[in-house]
Amino acid sequence: TADRRATDTIVAISTPPGRGGIGIVRLSGPDAVAIATPLLRIKNPLAHGQARFAEILDPDQSSYSSEGAKAIDQAIVTFFAASNSYTSEDLVEIAAHGSPVVLDLLLRRALERGARLAEPGEFTQRAFLSGRIDLTQAEAVRDLIDAQTLYQARVAADQLGGSLARRIQPAKAALITLIATIEAGIDFAEDDIDVILNSEILSRIETVRTQLTPVEASFAQGRIIHDGLTLAIVGQPNVGKSSLFNRLVERERAIVTSTPGTTRDLVTERVSLNGIPVNLIDTAGLRESTDEAEALGIQKSREAYAEADIVLIVLDATARIADQERELLAALNGRQIVVVLNKMDLISEALALHSDDEILYRRVIAWGEELSNVSKEELPVLAEELLVKEILALAVPVSAKTGQGITRLRQSILSLAQGSSADGQSGMLTNLRQHQSVAATVASLQAAAQSATQQIPHEMIMLDLYSALRNLDALTGQTTSDDILNQIFSTFCIGK
Ligand code: GDP
Ligand code: ZN
Repeated sequence: TADRRATDTIVAISTPPGRGGIGIVRLSGPDAVAIATPLLRIKNPLAHGQARFAEILDPDQSSYSSEGAKAIDQAIVTFFAASNSYTSEDLVEIAAHGSPVVLDLLLRRALERGARLAEPGEFTQRAFLSGRIDLTQAEAVRDLIDAQTLYQARVAADQLGGSLARRIQPAKAALITLIATIEAGIDFAEDDIDVILNSEILSRIETVRTQLTPVEASFAQGRIIHDGLTLAIVGQPNVGKSSLFNRLVERERAIVTSTPGTTRDLVTERVSLNGIPVNLIDTAGLRESTDEAEALGIQKSREAYAEADIVLIVLDATARIADQERELLAALNGRQIVVVLNKMDLISEALALHSDDEILYRRVIAWGEELSNVSKEELPVLAEELLVKEILALAVPVSAKTGQGITRLRQSILSLAQGSSADGQSGMLTNLRQHQSVAATVASLQAAAQSATQQIPHEMIMLDLYSALRNLDALTGQTTSDDILNQIFSTFCIGK
């Protein structure tokens, strides 16, 4: 990897703004020690990997006594030599009591002595530019800091350990070997011998592609873990959408009333479902309305569920299925849906001896019986009934009132979210940039394979293979443009 080491020294307050138990000022670069030392009174010289007690000096002349400058704070100073530091540069960390005024003083004095204020993520960027970590690991640092759930943190930690680069390594090695082999063949071309046959090239491209396919597919899961998913709760007025929303949020957030049509605006809340962040949207009841404000709410609901990753369709278990519900079920056929039969507590009261499953079974049978005497003209309707029946058989019985069935509902949502994409392998793609570089690699390999089947000269195949390699290298940052790098690191926090 190219060593694009910086020559200046950067400084930042690495702890979050405001008061704290501890506040850390961090310096990185060739002059880190030279800039930090005069700000401090330290008995023993700094040594790699060792913490030193130090006093932070107050530069105010009037506070000088016979012993020299007075101390404004006490600190623990740690030094890491370039050979083994986070940034691969000399790194000094001054951990003071977390007083913003003292930290600001340290920062200002370091700037006066020639340090430059660090850009967001610049410490990590330096670790990347020196080649100590690759771009996926740098992104993992950010993801780890941004993690909202422990599960997200675990996935980021795995990537920080280099799992993604390790996972693509075999494919990359095979690709480089293939390129080298064909390259050798082109060099000997005047001898009129193909060093490598097209059939051989094809099968080797196929090997590389097969290795990358599951990596590319891992984005389906990685994206959900990283970005979370949007789940819209839809259904007729009064079926219990808001009550269910509250159950899932486990807080009294949405206003629950028994007058239909009160949720006029979308109510959203971010919850964690087994560590996956979920944007939960409570929508207005779907029905025709003459009330302008309510009609607007309904319109918003339609937009919300059109865009949602998963739609939770709530039906009232005590009521006959309405035409609008039928339409909704038909419209959402093929989408990721969870059908919920709410208010099961009312049914349980009537049929106290039966389990939820049995009630559900009875409901489905009842539907089937209702259908047994349909005429031929009604067949299209029957088809729709069967669709409804099938969906209902998968419905999750719950009671938003008692909380019964909610755990099972959470599990249904979760298994739908994870789908078949969870390959259980470490090293998944977690952001669009990573996915794009692997997808572009696979596309280039496909183009190369296409050329190989058409007896196109090897030079042309090579163009696609080189492009595949370049795209794969972009994943780990080796061929990522400075613009894109700056874009990535600007999303970090200051001081990291
Ligand atoms: P929304 O219009 O679909 O959002 O429905 P709400 O959540 O506002 O609930 C409408 C009415 O149904 C309220 O009176 C709720 O108390 C009641 N309700 C909601 N869920 C249940 C349930 O599981 N069991 C019973 N018995 N009543 C419920
Ligand atoms: Zn509501």
